Amino acid sequence: MFDKKRITILGSTGSIGTQALEVVEKLKDKFEIISLTAGNNVELLKSQIRKFHPKSVCVSSVEAQTELHAEFKDLEVLVGDSGLEQICSNRDNDLIVVAVSGKIGLKPTLTAIKNKIDVALANKETLVMAGDIVMAEVRRHGVNLIPIDSEHCAIHQCIKNPHDVSKLIITASGGPFLKKSTEDMKRATIEQALAHPRWKMGKKITVDSATLMNKGLEVIEAHHLFGMNYDDIDVVIHPQSIVHSAIEYVDGSVIAQLGLPSMHIPIQYAVSYPERFEGIKSKSFSFIEAKTLDFEPVDFKKFKLLNIAYEAGKVGYSAPVCMNAANEEAVFAFLNGKIKLYNIVEIVDEFMSKHSIIKVDCVDDIFNLDFEIRTKTKEFIEKIRC
Ligand code: NDP
Ligand code: MG
Repeated sequence: MFDKKRITILGSTGSIGTQALEVVEKLKDKFEIISLTAGNNVELLKSQIRKFHPKSVCVSSVEAQTELHAEFKDLEVLVGDSGLEQICSNRDNDLIVVAVSGKIGLKPTLTAIKNKIDVALANKETLVMAGDIVMAEVRRHGVNLIPIDSEHCAIHQCIKNPHDVSKLIITASGGPFLKKSTEDMKRATIEQALAHPRWKMGKKITVDSATLMNKGLEVIEAHHLFGMNYDDIDVVIHPQSIVHSAIEYVDGSVIAQLGLPSMHIPIQYAVSYPERFEGIKSKSFSFIEAKTLDFEPVDFKKFKLLNIAYEAGKVGYSAPVCMNAANEEAVFAFLNGKIKLYNIVEIVDEFMSKHSIIKVDCVDDIFNLDFEIRTKTKEFIEKIRC
């Protein structure tokens, strides 16, 4: 038995990754870093290497690999997908934090699980694309898959008797367009879409939060993590982001998890599980100071993508893969100034209405379909720009 929990962070240079390292720094007597991985932010990774002394790192390009080799002679510097695979098969790890964004998270997560390494999962695309496959492997290998996404982490903290849960209630802040009209959303600039009122996150998830696609991805994520039917997963708007989510038991008892909005809490919970430490203790939530907590129903007409996500989840098979790929490419096009915010909704709607459902039994099937939909989405975007 080792004194410290040995952990690796995939995506250590991102919003979740940097906050995970803040947790590790605060609890340095509890955790030891085995590996860190980044995409292109080599400068930040260098400073993380100096501070946390990982045994290996992985980057996206050979240029970045060469640059790191030159400065850190004794460090193992890996590159690309094969590097991520190697890091996630290293059984020196007790836990791997998957904080990369996008589809890149799927294969390393599966590799970690197959090597019987626990996973703290932030990357929601993994469960949206391949929830059935991932959860089957979790059961087969008996590992812990602890959610970092704040809503799922809240539910994880509330559940004591999983078989007696009758409903999940996922809260949503409503994002920057909650009080705006659909017309305002159609005119929205990138800056407006990125101005999330409660959370500071990576750009992709921030745009998804503006369209409420993020909530749709979370509904699918919750279905897989907690084995609930879609009809028993509700979404409720809660602008203050204090109640992070709740569950209802068969006897009508409702248990919710509350706290001031901070990703440090779910990250720290997930990496410390099943223990709890003071660590980065957030400011206490005061019911008296809060005075009121507001809740309202979702406007499914304005936030059509949430509806589409429910439908995709219920249909299953290839539907969530198609939705995720079309959405991600549309979000990138929006962030690159190629399309307007509301085009994302129209593009995802168009692709879902034309999609013929197929069975996707393995990760290769999923990636082939993902590639096909992304290619078609890019072509479609170029056409509507002309
Ligand atoms: P960021 O965009 O801030 O960070 C993404 C991380 O992934 C960075 O370290 C980036 O490296 C790395 N990365 C991206 N693409 C690649 C690639 N092709 N190869 C290797 N590494 C790559 O995202 P977030 O931290 O906001 O989100 C991460 C995941 O967590 C997402 O799936 C998101 O949905 C989920 N999540 C995030 C929350 C949040 O509060 N941010 C809340 C709940 C879930 P680099 O920067 O070096 O290029
Ligand atoms: Mg969330």
